[in-house]
Parts: sequence; C-alpha cells; structure tokens
Amino acid sequence: MTRVSFKKRDGLARTGVLETEGMPPVRLPAAADCTELFPALATLVRTNIPLCAPAAIVRQFPSEEGIQPVPIHPQLDNRARSGDCVMVAGWHTAMANPRTYVDWLIGLKEKTPVDTAWYAPASALPSNAAILCYSGFDLFDYKAVDLKSAQGRFCTPEGDFPKDVLGNGICSCPGCTAGNLLEHNRHALRQELALVTRFITQGQLRDLVESRCRLDAAQVAVMRHLDRNYAFMERVQPIARTGVMRANSGESMQRAEVQRFANRVIERYVPPKIDVAVLLPCSARKPYSLSQSHRKFQQAVGGRAHELIVTSPLGLVPRELETIYPAGHYDVPVTGYWDAEECTVIADIIARYFRKHPYCRIIAHLEGGALKVARMAAEQCGITLEYTCTEHPAGTIALNALDAALAGERKGKDDRLHGMISYQFNSDVDTKGTTLRGHFPEVFYSRNNVQLFSIDTGTGMLRPTLDGWKIIPDGYQVHIDDFIPEGDILTPGVVSADPAIRDGDEVLVVGARALGTGRAALPADEMQRSRRGVAVHVRKIKRV
Ligand SMILES: [Zn+2]
Repeated sequence: MTRVSFKKRDGLARTGVLETEGMPPVRLPAAADCTELFPALATLVRTNIPLCAPAAIVRQFPSEEGIQPVPIHPQLDNRARSGDCVMVAGWHTAMANPRTYVDWLIGLKEKTPVDTAWYAPASALPSNAAILCYSGFDLFDYKAVDLKSAQGRFCTPEGDFPKDVLGNGICSCPGCTAGNLLEHNRHALRQELALVTRFITQGQLRDLVESRCRLDAAQVAVMRHLDRNYAFMERVQPIARTGVMRANSGESMQRAEVQRFANRVIERYVPPKIDVAVLLPCSARKPYSLSQSHRKFQQAVGGRAHELIVTSPLGLVPRELETIYPAGHYDVPVTGYWDAEECTVIADIIARYFRKHPYCRIIAHLEGGALKVARMAAEQCGITLEYTCTEHPAGTIALNALDAALAGERKGKDDRLHGMISYQFNSDVDTKGTTLRGHFPEVFYSRNNVQLFSIDTGTGMLRPTLDGWKIIPDGYQVHIDDFIPEGDILTPGVVSADPAIRDGDEVLVVGARALGTGRAALPADEMQRSRRGVAVHVRKIKRV
C-alpha cells in the first residue's frame, strides 16, 4: 500500500508526501533509498525495457500486478491507479533526445492518473534535479550520483568536475569536510532538491529552471520543447501567482502563462467602446498606474482614449488588466533595446489585437524598442499610427502633443470591471449601475449597495460574491453532488467542472442543496481525474 498526497503545485512539479508500508513518510520531491521504500524493487524483473522499445516487444514482458512502484512505459496502456507510485525505468536515457523526452513525457502524463507519485530511477543529479521536478518527477534514488562517485566525478548543480576539486572550497558539506566524495555527491543532490522544493513552494520553479538549464544544452531544449506544447503546459499552470515573475531570459516570452495572457487579451477581453487607442510605454513600477509616468499619461489622456501598454514579454496590457497576474507582477531587465525575436513576438501580439479590435485612430505615444515594435505591428495588420513623441514620453513636450492630438475627442466611460470580467470569466456583461469604493488597487464593486466583487490584492484577480456571480451568466462552475459542503470541496464530491477552470480560478460551486463561491485548487480535468485532495477552497456557502 502506498499513499500519496500533494500540497503545493507549480506546473507539473509539486510538493507532497509519500507514505509506504512500515516506512516513515517521505516528503516529495526527494532522493531516497528506494529499495528500502519498495522492497519489491529488489526482485522486480523485466522493468528495464528501453523507453524506445516498440509496443510489440514491451507487451511480451508484462510486469507483475499489485506491486509498488507500478512500472509505466510510453508503449504500454496505463495500469496505475490514484495514489500509486509509478516508475519510469530508463528515464536517465531520455535526456539524450530532448524532443522524444517531451513526447514521451506528455504521452505518459496524459494516460496516468494525476494523483500518482513519479519515480525516475538512476536519473537524478544535482545538475538535472530542477528540470526533472519541472517535468513532474517527484522521487529519485542515489544511483546516478553514486555512479558519478564511482567514476570519480564531483557533482554540483552547475555540472561535475574531476574529484580532485574536493577540498577546493567549492563546497563545505560534511562529505567535503571528511574528504568523502560519495557523501558529498549525495549531499549535493539532497541540497538541490531542498532548493527545488523551496522554489515550488514559492511558485517560482520556472525561474530556477531558466537559470539552472544554462549550462546544459539538452535541458534548454527540453524546456523549449515543453513550451512549444502550449495546450499541455497551459492546462497545468496556475491562473495567478502572488510573487514576482522574473522574465529575465528570452524563454520567458514562451512561458505558457505569458502566452495565455496574450491569447486571452486577444480572444476573451472586450475593450470599452472608445474610438481612439493610445499605445503607452510600460513602467518599472507595477501596477503601472502607481508610477509617476503613468499618472502623467492618464492626466494627458483624460479618458479620451483607450490606454494600451506595450511591454515585453506580455505584448499588450489594456489599462483595465494592469493589476491582473502576470501584468502586475513581472520584472524584466530594462536596457531600452529589444532583440529581434522579442520584436517579432510582441509585434505579432499587437497586430492580432488590432485585427480583432479595430479603432478609428491609434496613437503611438512611444519611443525606442516599443515604438519599433508598434511600427512592425502596424505594417503587419495594415493600420496607420499617429505619433505624439519626439522626446521622452513622460516629458512636457510629448505630453502636450498627446493632449493636443486628443483635442475634440469625447471622454469614454472608465469601466475596469467590464474589462476584467471579460478577461477572467470570458463573458461580456452589463456593468451598468455598478459603483466603486476603496483605494486603488484595493477596490470593491457594488450595485444598489450590494457588494459584487472585490480584488484579490495578491493576484489582482476579481473575487465575486454570490451576488457577483449572478451577473456572470455561466461558466466557471463546479457542479457537486447532492450535499451541503462543510469547508472545502474535495475531488470525490465534484460531478463536473467547466473545462476552462485552472488552478487558482474563482469558481461558483453549484449543487442541488448548496451554492458557494471559492477558488479552484486544481484545473478542471484534474478535479475529475483525482480521487483525493481539495478541488475548491470554499469562501462562502449558502443553502438553497
Ligand atoms: Zn560537499
């Protein structure tokens, strides 16, 4: 018997606990003596079939039933059940071909229950532990590091060196102090896994992986191939995080959550009915409105144009969405220079936006790289830009030019709520009669003195009350069995869930006897595929 429970998820990675018979619980991710955890491993045969073996051959070597861990193979149907520990033998060979690594991983993840622990035997080194956890593996052994020790290699997260560096001061762990290479290598693996655990807990494992993979081309390739599988990666990314998103590498633009933001701005978001758009530069301070420069821009615009912020890596941020993750959370190295790929990606987003949402006039109040990108986009989608900047955008001359360009334009209605609802819940609702109180960005929306929404100041997302849900026609609902929930909704209680729901989304809980509002703890498909754990953190329940 094994039991697995997960606590914090970050994409495919997670922290949790694995319990096996007669052994103390293991906190995941972990390196452990797996033959102790799983005595069957000592006698388990026919598990070392190569990952590339064709189905006809793999089927000739069926593994035993009812033992842990459960071997899984790209060419075999799934036999694992919720709560099992699954084992992918030979995974250490997968890194040699990053494209098949990703194909195999996706195939295996899609056919295996989500609430299983993943064991990669003989695979983990301090230098690849981060990418293995990022790929959704949780359990490792010491075989790979012990082999390095036997080969006289000194392991670090940055790669391995000849063992004579032991004692050079690179590390001062107990193994190094005792001049024991084996102990050092094991210690280095445990230490790296502890660091990975910390990054998962903070929801920032991707930042660590983007940094760690630099010294190994195969790891960079695995990360890029995973990014190219947008549908697979998007589904497992939380909808919002509270920490800073460090967009410090070229790959930051390809993160599923960055692509999702751009896609939703183009496909879901409904702009206000204003004839004129003004493209503005971003600011280091987030949300932009709190910066000096954006206060000046807003004053000059005076509500006569729809404000769109041109920024890397997100592309385009409509003013109404500036608090929402990741728009209110990203940090980028600012050099004023935009590289060619960045320009192409961002110009494409802007062009797609203007094709979907036409305006009568578009003013580019930009300079430098952002201006170049806007010009590229205009050419791509056949729009004509007007320019109001000859110097720094927040300078007096530029601001006066912007003001003059908008002379005679009528003032539009400032309707942040409408824009945010369209982005977050994919619906174009009538917000007429709603009023706002509070101090930006901590605001509350009401209608006839009934509170409808508040803003989660950590994520910038809207939080509907039960009355707020009444104005959102449908969608983002989790249907539960005929019971009155006490506390959180657990996965066995979920009957169905809107497939659009992602981890962290605000959802309406609908049951025959209760109605509730809360935050999803899992994406919709995992709510239905998992047997254990919380599906929705409930904020309020009402009997019906
Ligand atoms: Zn050491």
